[in-house]
Amino acid sequence: MFPARYRLAMSICTVCRRALVGRQRKFCSLRCKNKDTNNRNQSYAAQQTRGKSRKLRLIEQMGSMCSRCGYARNFAALEFHHKDPQSKGFQLDLRSLSNRSWGSIRAEARKCILVCANCHAEIHNSGCRLDNVDCDAAANSSISISISGSGLTGSMQRHCGSVRQKKPQLPDKT
Ligand SMILES: [Zn+2]
Ligand SMILES: [Zn+2]
Ligand SMILES: [Zn+2]
Repeated sequence: MFPARYRLAMSICTVCRRALVGRQRKFCSLRCKNKDTNNRNQSYAAQQTRGKSRKLRLIEQMGSMCSRCGYARNFAALEFHHKDPQSKGFQLDLRSLSNRSWGSIRAEARKCILVCANCHAEIHNSGCRLDNVDCDAAANSSISISISGSGLTGSMQRHCGSVRQKKPQLPDKT
């Protein structure tokens, strides 16, 4: 580690590259700080927009409705469920829809069915039915349930959630 004084002497504003003074760490001025914030917000907004338009394209190609119940009102409530978790490469969320190549998105979507958020929750939590509560199954919905009719069983729960597979990640690109 360099002495603090030396480190500060080497620091520059991340926006305009002017040397930083005193207690400045990243920005030389409020102006540069605001500029940075605006850039971040803009690129986030651009990512969301691009992700949404690509999601819309996929949804149209997959029938524009929940394949389970026919829901077709709001595409924010339509999701992609991987039929086989073993084959899952990545989650088709707005972030990956925006950042990944269209080819890899199409390939990933072919492993999925289009379902509404309610049906998706039911698929992953079949033990939580109010008319037939299975507390054991509900508590262990990731390990011990077979979903009647869907052909999915046991360990196939939760794979569309935040559980990540350890797999080499493809570099994000457009
Ligand atoms: Zn600056
Ligand atoms: Zn799923
Ligand atoms: Zn549905």
